[in-house]
Amino acid sequence: MKNTILDYTKEELSDIVKPSFRAKQIFNWVYQHYVDDFEEMKNLPKDLRKALEDKYIINPLTIVRKEVSSDGSIKYLFACQDGYTVETVLLPMKKEERDETGKVKKETKYTICVSSQVGCKIGCAFCLTAKGGFKRNLTPGEIVAQVLSLKKDQNIAPNRRLNIVYMGMGEPLDNLENVSKAVSIFKELDGLAIGARRQTISTSGLSHQIAKLGDMDLGVLLAISLHAVDDRLREQLMPINKAYNIESIIKAVKAFPIDQRKRVMFEYLVMKDLNDDLNSAKKLVKLLHGIKAKVNLIYFNPYPGSPFQRPDEKTMEKFKAYLNDHGITCTIRQSKGLDISAACGQLKEKSKDEIG
Ligand code: SAH
Ligand code: SF4
Repeated sequence: MKNTILDYTKEELSDIVKPSFRAKQIFNWVYQHYVDDFEEMKNLPKDLRKALEDKYIINPLTIVRKEVSSDGSIKYLFACQDGYTVETVLLPMKKEERDETGKVKKETKYTICVSSQVGCKIGCAFCLTAKGGFKRNLTPGEIVAQVLSLKKDQNIAPNRRLNIVYMGMGEPLDNLENVSKAVSIFKELDGLAIGARRQTISTSGLSHQIAKLGDMDLGVLLAISLHAVDDRLREQLMPINKAYNIESIIKAVKAFPIDQRKRVMFEYLVMKDLNDDLNSAKKLVKLLHGIKAKVNLIYFNPYPGSPFQRPDEKTMEKFKAYLNDHGITCTIRQSKGLDISAACGQLKEKSKDEIG
């Protein structure tokens, strides 16, 4: 199996290809022109192209499957070189706006949700990814390739602004080395140029890793998958809570360096009759006291055999209103792509039956 050049920052690549300006040229071909064959890099000398061809590949992912939802989100299933598959979702967050003459006034805002591992070790009771167990970490190049492949496939202009959320399959902080490397590669100005403040890392709450990520001072935004406000329920939903309880997470969040204009996002997956009561909302307000937080309520998305149920809309609205009334910004995540097996792991499960 060959290495991919998507694994490298520009600085690393300039140690490999000499003289160093070649790295900039390669970045330009790959990330601005979506070229996936060294042969097409016409301003590189022939022998360099050949040497690169012998040793490296460009994109390690191939598209296995694509599902388009009625709301415009598109879910991709990619195969890695070793045959493992991962999911990536393109979410158009705001629709395009045009003026009276039909000219585009505001472009659609895109967010891409990337996977960081094949499977996941954390084993949350509500999550389909957990069911398949853990296979392996994704390499930095495999994380970067998800965005690159999707941009190319969707004909998204290279300079188009994008946000990245590490909310696909896997626990990003359990693969911190490769994820932080991917963050840096995404940031490269001659590459995809996605600034750290446009990248959000979501974690199930590995407190010691949150501290490590903070020490790296990458400038990324943080999202915490909280889902419960007391340790007993959280342990049942997320066994990792036995090792890192709610108090330890809150402490780690308080110590995390974050841009003064930004907030830490707390994700709260709402399950009917389990954590959807106003008493939980009250505890949540208390818990977040002193943190510049925003809460994102997520409807539990049922799958065949899932032990939980989707909450009703009224209950969600009440929960949200309680938080808003008590000074906490709260939004309800519109279940993007519900009709395309929205929650992580679901497209993959489906494809198992079809492609083995
Ligand atoms: N492992 C990290 C990041 C990816 S998890 C974390 O847990 O934060 C991906 C997201 O999908 C999480 O926010 C999780 O709460 C959500 N999710 C998992 N199963 C779901 C389901 N059945 N319905 C709705 N959201 C789900
Ligand atoms: Fe892993 Fe996140 Fe799924 Fe939990 S919710 S099993 S941490 S991917």
